[in-house]
Amino acid sequence: MATDMMAGMPGHDASGVEGPDEHFAVRVVARLLAALGQAMLFATVNQDHTRPQPRMDPRAAAEAVTGLSMAVYHTPPGDDLVTVAGEIVGWTRSTLEVFRDQLSVHAWSSCPCEESHGQDETDAAVLRAIRADLLLLPDPATRTLQAGLG
Ligand SMILES: [Zn+2]
Repeated sequence: MATDMMAGMPGHDASGVEGPDEHFAVRVVARLLAALGQAMLFATVNQDHTRPQPRMDPRAAAEAVTGLSMAVYHTPPGDDLVTVAGEIVGWTRSTLEVFRDQLSVHAWSSCPCEESHGQDETDAAVLRAIRADLLLLPDPATRTLQAGLG
């Protein structure tokens, strides 16, 4: 299991959000992976920006990519539902939330060159996509409620 592998990684800590396993369609996981890729790309090209907070945790982003990919790998052929560990979902959410927050105040841009050549439209489209992607993830408030009731 991916989670077993990562639990043994040096530097691994319990900063991830604990929670129950979640289930996603394969194509939803692919979309989340695409979003994580963009999040890491934007974090990289905007790393010297004057708005350092909220800061993306590159380890959480990397763990999310590995965890989601391994979850797809472990899904039996023919199954459409991918089982993803709660902490992987948490790292995915926290990474995409930082991405959304930096985009929503125009702190991060697809091209932070300070010239305007159409990147505002691109950034707005990416922000719409990320907001939609976040809706694919379970609401942590609901999850907490469920955990409390369970
Ligand atoms: Zn530019």
